[in-house]
Amino acid sequence: MTSRRKFIQLGALASLASFTKAWGKPAAKVSKPVVISTWNFGVGANVEAWKILSTDGRALDAVEAGARVPEGDPKESSVGLGGLPDRDGRVTLDSCIMDEFANCGAVACLEHIVHPVSVARKVMEKTPHVFLVGDGALKFALDQGFKKENLLTKQSEKAWKEWLKTAKYKPVANIENHDTIGIVALDTKQNLSGACTTSGMAYKMHGRVGDSPIIGAALFVDNEIGAATSTGVGEEVIRIVGSHLVVELMRQGNSPQQACELAVARIVKNQPQKSKEIQVGFLALSKNGEYGAFALQKGFTYAVYSNEVSNKIFEAKSFY
Ligand code: ASP
Repeated sequence: MTSRRKFIQLGALASLASFTKAWGKPAAKVSKPVVISTWNFGVGANVEAWKILSTDGRALDAVEAGARVPEGDPKESSVGLGGLPDRDGRVTLDSCIMDEFANCGAVACLEHIVHPVSVARKVMEKTPHVFLVGDGALKFALDQGFKKENLLTKQSEKAWKEWLKTAKYKPVANIENHDTIGIVALDTKQNLSGACTTSGMAYKMHGRVGDSPIIGAALFVDNEIGAATSTGVGEEVIRIVGSHLVVELMRQGNSPQQACELAVARIVKNQPQKSKEIQVGFLALSKNGEYGAFALQKGFTYAVYSNEVSNKIFEAKSFY
C-alpha cells in the first residue's frame, strides 16, 4: 500500500529525476593533479596552485597559494586587498581552508590582513579551534606575525562613497556586488583540499558574515568522495549547507555535475522568487578527477588546470 509519506517521497524523486534529466550530464574528467577555481580570477590562482601540484606538492599548499593571488591583488574588488567595504567603509574578510584529514580553519569579519586564507590555515594548524572572528581573529593574526595594513584602496573608497550618496545605508545583494574565490584541488597523491576567501557582499552591514568562511557552506572536503565550493549570495548557501550537500550528493552516487545541479535546485525550491534575482554557483571535484559546476544564473565562470586542460575558463550551465 502506498502511504501518503511514500507518495510524497516518490513525487520528490520523480521531480529530481526530471531535473537531472534536463541538465545532468556525465561530469568532465581529468587525470590528477587538477585545480579548479571560481570566476575568471581563478586563472591567476590556478597558475600558483599548479606550480605546487605539478611538482608533486600537497593540495593544501596549492589551494592556499592559489587563494592568495586574488587576495593580494588590489584590483580585485571582491577579495582581500581592495575588496569593497561594508556600509561603514570597513573592509572585513571571510576565509576558510580544509585538508584531506578534515582538518579545517576559518576566520570571519577579519580586518587589516591581506591574506585571511593564511590566517585560516594558522587557526587550523596552531590552535585547538576551527573558527576565529573579528578582533580575536585580528589579534591572533598579529600574534602570528601577519602585518596590519589598510585594505581600503582609493578606488574602493570612491565606489563606497558613491554608493552612500544614493543607497540610504541599505545593504542590497545584487549580482554585481560580490564574488569569492573558491578553489579545490586534487594532488598527485590523490588527496583533496580546498580554500575559499572573499570580502563578501559589498556594503553589507558591519559584522555580516557570508557562507565563505563556513565549513560545509562555501567549502567542504571529504577525501573519500570529493570537494565542493560555492560563490554567490552566501545567505542562500548557508540555508542549504551547500558544499556539504554537494559532497553528500556525490557520496550517494551523483556525479559532481549532478550534485551541483541538485544543490542549486534546492535553493530554487526554498526560494522560488528570490532565486530568480540572485546568483549562486557551485563547483565540485571528485576523488577521481571528475568535476562539475552549476549556477542559478548565466555568467558563472570557473577555471580548470590539469595536464589535459591548460588553465581554461568555462562558463557553467545555469538553472535560469
Ligand atoms: N559568497 C560570498 C558572500 O556571500 C559572496 C560571493 O561569493 O559572491 O559573502
